[in-house]
Amino acid sequence: SVSSSVVGEASKDKLLGGLLSAEFEECSCFSRYRSAAYRKASPHLPSPYLVERLRRYEALHRKCGPNTELYKKSIERLKSKQSSAAMECNYIVWIPHYGLGNRVVSLVSSFLYALLNDRVLLVHVPHELTDLFCEPFPGTSWVLPSDFPVHNFQNFDKGTPQSYGNMLRDKVISNDMRFSANATLPAYAYLHLPWYYNEWDKLFFCQDAQQMLRKFPWLLLKSDHYFVPSLFLVEEYDDELRRLFPERTTVFHHLVRYLLHPSNTVWGYVTRYYHAYLAKADKRVGIQIRNLKNEPVPFETLLSQIVNCSSKEGILPSIDLRRPARPAEDDAKVKAVFTTSLDSGYSDRIRDMYYEHATTTGEIVGVYQASHEVEQRTEQQNHNIKALSEITLLSFSDVLITTACSTFGYVAQGLGGLEPLILTKPWKSKLPCRWAKSPEPCFLIPPPSDVCRDHGGINKKMAQHVRQCEDENGGIKLF
Ligand code: GDP
Repeated sequence: SVSSSVVGEASKDKLLGGLLSAEFEECSCFSRYRSAAYRKASPHLPSPYLVERLRRYEALHRKCGPNTELYKKSIERLKSKQSSAAMECNYIVWIPHYGLGNRVVSLVSSFLYALLNDRVLLVHVPHELTDLFCEPFPGTSWVLPSDFPVHNFQNFDKGTPQSYGNMLRDKVISNDMRFSANATLPAYAYLHLPWYYNEWDKLFFCQDAQQMLRKFPWLLLKSDHYFVPSLFLVEEYDDELRRLFPERTTVFHHLVRYLLHPSNTVWGYVTRYYHAYLAKADKRVGIQIRNLKNEPVPFETLLSQIVNCSSKEGILPSIDLRRPARPAEDDAKVKAVFTTSLDSGYSDRIRDMYYEHATTTGEIVGVYQASHEVEQRTEQQNHNIKALSEITLLSFSDVLITTACSTFGYVAQGLGGLEPLILTKPWKSKLPCRWAKSPEPCFLIPPPSDVCRDHGGINKKMAQHVRQCEDENGGIKLF
């Protein structure tokens, strides 16, 4: 376990089995090579083929990245307002949407899409996302330059005429264009994939669309979900995905650890907190509590759900109700519980419980929460720094408890490679909690399973590898 020997622990593979490039200066981003020492060693190695493809991707990004000659050439094509075929360098521009967890899962999904299509991923970084993440690709940048010529793309949404769905509906394009060598196309297409996407937008996940979209040098994408499971249903990605991920349930775990490294600012928050409160414990338990305003669970109900589930599953000890209870021994084992929530109430009550009572096992339990921000304030950089710090701290847990359907928890479980105990929504499940089968996130709002019936079909073989999520009946998850 990690305590004072954190830094420089030679036995831990700081490159994560070759997942990370060794080309970076360590001090430009301490978290990149140091996070591994704070986590349990991952039992999942990336495949040699994934490692090879990542190095190839990095070379492509260096060749086509912002301010290269090839980038300028592709920008000229974009300004000319027309395209007819792919270029030497083709791009996908990611547009942030909703909370930080939503952003991370959609960003990781977009990166896999880029990888599968030899596109270069560029990221729009609004002020509230500055100084949150390190650059993931050596010798270049993934930040979309501020002089990107598409007007107002940050506000693209369902009504945008250039969305793939709307262009299809309005017959500006058709998927048959994938066959024609000299069809004239608009210079870019906007992929509208947030939860409120319509049936036209959803055709994105069909093989015909995937082939047609390859003719666009520029794609802009907005999503708030982990849409990777639906990419696994596209027949022509089948072979490549099998080679990349022989262990399908590690897709997010590998890609999020590859892509997302907290900036030195965030890493400062993380390490200060960790060493002050968590490092010396014998075991660390993370509890991510998300009580949504629009479908709230009563405070006492959620509190007892947390306490009952964690004791029933042996994650936290029960309290000893004898009076007087045994005092703590000098050498008692210490469990540190790190909670995250917008409220302070849950953490206060659990802490009081273990202050006022001994445990039946003689263990001592300390309960800590780094912030209670009261409200989601995604537009504020300092708020997001805390959110990312807390997601990272949760990922250092030995055991993790998360709230159903929260992308905040998904990111923590993916970074940590943890199978969390999920606190279910009382109106969705008879059981108060259930274990996730893998660290994979759920695609909470996938297109209907027959969406591609007339558009390239779905791959029946691959469909067997996607299952209903533990936390959302309508969602799908890699299996
Ligand atoms: P989701 O809505 O649960 O899927 O998660 P998101 O991360 O997408 O959005 C929730 C946002 O609310 C976070 O990004 C934070 O800005 C804020 N938030 C929610 N829970 C917490 C928490 O426990 N700690 C902190 N610091 N922020 C939180």
